Amino acid sequence: MFCVSEQGSLTIVRRSSTKKSQNHTDTVAGYSSSFADDETLDAVDLDTDNLPAVDTPDACDKAAVRLRCLLRQLQRGEISAELLQKNLHYAARVLEAVFIDETKRLADDDDELSEVQPDAVPPEVREWLASTFTRQLATTRRKSDEKPKFRSVAHAIRAGIFVDRIYRRVSNTALMQFPSDVVRVLKTLDEWSFDVFALNDAASSQPVKYLGYDLLNRYGMIHKFKVPPVTLETFLSRVEEGYCRHKNPYHNNLHAADVAQTVHYMLCQTGLMNWLTDLEIFATLVAAIIHDYEHTGTTNNFHVMSGTETALLYNDRAVLENHHISASFRVMKDDECNILQNLSREEFREFRTLVIDMVLATDMSFHFQQLKNMKNLLTLAEPSVDKSKALSLVLHCCDISHPAKRWDLHHRWTMLLLEEFFRQGDKERELGLPFSPLCDRKNTLVAESQIG
Ligand SMILES: [Zn+2]
Repeated sequence: MFCVSEQGSLTIVRRSSTKKSQNHTDTVAGYSSSFADDETLDAVDLDTDNLPAVDTPDACDKAAVRLRCLLRQLQRGEISAELLQKNLHYAARVLEAVFIDETKRLADDDDELSEVQPDAVPPEVREWLASTFTRQLATTRRKSDEKPKFRSVAHAIRAGIFVDRIYRRVSNTALMQFPSDVVRVLKTLDEWSFDVFALNDAASSQPVKYLGYDLLNRYGMIHKFKVPPVTLETFLSRVEEGYCRHKNPYHNNLHAADVAQTVHYMLCQTGLMNWLTDLEIFATLVAAIIHDYEHTGTTNNFHVMSGTETALLYNDRAVLENHHISASFRVMKDDECNILQNLSREEFREFRTLVIDMVLATDMSFHFQQLKNMKNLLTLAEPSVDKSKALSLVLHCCDISHPAKRWDLHHRWTMLLLEEFFRQGDKERELGLPFSPLCDRKNTLVAESQIG
């Protein structure tokens, strides 16, 4: 139809008309104006009596034909001013009605319930839809005498299609509610100087939950790997609790969120993400989130020297890193935390291998070996970079990146890390063990500890 036919949004209005081709009073009754030829236009009666109401689909058609007709007559210079005025007035009112209609539709845009005919679904289904998929509270209450049954099979099918459509839409979006302060801080998520301490304050000490959720959602992982939003939320909350278990000054949930954000920076700002598959991105983000899960606030050396249970379990090799991975996968075995439940067997194997490789490589004792390997590789004429090794290096770099961050952030991290070391020193003294480097709170110089 003329003037509106190309806009899908307006066709909704048009479609609802059943009066078209009826009650026509002028000579182009039933004629679509976009096809009106000169002869037809010449035959239009420009009398403005008996025109359809301005907010009806018919009015649009009529107004369009009349405008075309007026244009022809203006060209010939044969139109009366009064007739021109009356017809333009009518056309203006039609446009206003369309505008109001469209504005109202756009205002209702996030409420697709408005598209459902009132009789298409029973009131309690509508109520459930409203309370489940929109933020509005159910406004219509079923009267006690109303029978909650579908009027027809057709209505049931229509309701089913509608639920499916809206469910698909919702399942693609973040369901978790974010406090407005958290949203404000997360706006700077793409920046190198992102302030994770500010996020922690805004997020009531749950930075992993919000940042982790936001990151996985931004990369489309929730959708691509069909992670149920509630499961992701439960998983992240559980991980966050694990990070807080030992009340460490440094290796806690803030550090996890900080490293995950830095990994995100590397992925998105260097173009690295374009080199990776979805599964590799998913594994990298999850590896960053869990890489220090249940950290004890003590070093591998402490575990080995004091002969902890964990050191015994992992035979003194990458004691903490093995624990972070093992304990995290144990969390994911719990159904309500299983964010990998919809991965295929192959995807799961690849994901697990990648996460294990990446987190094991965060063991600082591999630092120089990792650097040497990568340097050697890059000297080759045609280096073929192993993705797993490259990603491991990226995670390791992000893990130790705070000296390269803004001064105030770095200073804060340094003081927290030293406090953690000193607490280990206190334990070492209690156990009669020699002090590990930087762990003696009486004989450590802060400035000299930060070299490089
Ligand atoms: Zn770490």
